[in-house]
Amino acid sequence: MVLITHDLGVVAESCDRVVVMYAGRKVEEADVVDLFDRPLHPYTRALMLSMPAMNTRSRRLSEIPGMVPAPHELGRGCAFAARCAYANDRCRANIPELTEHGAGHVVACFAVEENRLPLHEKVLA
Ligand code: SF4
Repeated sequence: MVLITHDLGVVAESCDRVVVMYAGRKVEEADVVDLFDRPLHPYTRALMLSMPAMNTRSRRLSEIPGMVPAPHELGRGCAFAARCAYANDRCRANIPELTEHGAGHVVACFAVEENRLPLHEKVLA
């Protein structure tokens, strides 16, 4: 069964594997436990930060500023670049390919590939 949703709570409860899509492309895929333990793509991390947590009272939910680009607005580079705190010239000029980072965990991101993404940090521009 395939489930398409933005609700990560539903994903966590219902799915074995997760494919994260952005602007029509797969940007990350992993086993559900691995994805929630170790989200790699900045968009995946931003989605996680926008989830309400049951065990904290005051954390303000973060939102992802800007909009997903329409197909005719896509440039040469990574579709998330305008919203990503880690975008650089390489990101704006090239589309990252999916590469494996752990068994069955693939991600398309130059910052991950170059090891310049801190484990937990600000992910949005
Ligand atoms: S770091 Fe670069 S490749 Fe990775 S999501 Fe941000 S803009 Fe895209």
